[in-house]
Amino acid sequence: MIEVDVVRLLNVRFDCTRCHASGSWVRVARSLRRQNSVIHRMRCVCCSERIVAKVGRGAGLRDDVLAQSRREYEVLCALHRKFPQDERYGTLVPLDYLESAGNGIVITRYFCGDDLARRLRSLDVSGRREACRSAGIWLRKLHESGDSGMQTGGLGVADKLDYLASTYGDVLDADAKTRKARELLAQEAARAEMVALHSVRLHGDFKPQNMLCDGTKYVGLDIHWGNVGAAVYDIAPFLSHLRLAGRARADRLCELAEAEFMAGYGGSVPVCALRWAQLYFVLCYLGGYRAHGRLAAIYAHLRVRPLVLDLARRLQEAA
Ligand SMILES: [Zn+2]
Repeated sequence: MIEVDVVRLLNVRFDCTRCHASGSWVRVARSLRRQNSVIHRMRCVCCSERIVAKVGRGAGLRDDVLAQSRREYEVLCALHRKFPQDERYGTLVPLDYLESAGNGIVITRYFCGDDLARRLRSLDVSGRREACRSAGIWLRKLHESGDSGMQTGGLGVADKLDYLASTYGDVLDADAKTRKARELLAQEAARAEMVALHSVRLHGDFKPQNMLCDGTKYVGLDIHWGNVGAAVYDIAPFLSHLRLAGRARADRLCELAEAEFMAGYGGSVPVCALRWAQLYFVLCYLGGYRAHGRLAAIYAHLRVRPLVLDLARRLQEAA
């Protein structure tokens, strides 16, 4: 794929949506290279409007990468209409979508905020609780914006167990305690599947890193909004990331943060289904780290494995 000069391209093909000036974009920060995209930040020299141009990239076929960028823009447009946008909760404002030399470019208005993972580290206890509650409220709004409504369904445990076994079975079973945790997940699957759960259109990658906050407003990022499934599949990864980011001696603080998040989300979420989904996700994380070399495996042993054992205990308690 040919790298495009994004600033030059926008100056030819994208007028400022605020003041309608042409050719007024200048770069305001170095481009940021991520796994699946390159992020460019620009400002209009006429009215100071700030925008972000996200250029899709990836190891896949060019057409797949393009399709992903197109889909991302469509999701942003749909969410812009359906999500109840207000001064406290929102999604990114889509401005335009361009294609050039095989690249898909999603243009959004810049939102000035820190990601929630970074923000949580700098907040005091009451600030953390408030932020976690707000993240729960935001997720509830997203789930209620989906066209599936709030139907009832199950966890779909069979697919999850198959995926875990075929992808990470060997690396998890090499350690007796994590093998036991995987066995427990299989043992409790039938019981967890019996619980009636809300089926919603899922965020697909909901974690503190994918939420921006400027101190007042919360804006969600990287919303896949593809699969319909049990809401716990968005809740569980968020809670797991909260735990992984917490310090070992701060369990009590993590519990408070979790409780606030759940209170913000509202409604009743069956504990045994939630614990099952949490254990599933952290087993996937652990497997993923163990499969990625020695350094990653050391981190996994110190941080992720204790969480697996803790969640296995919690799943047993919830059963
Ligand atoms: Zn302008």
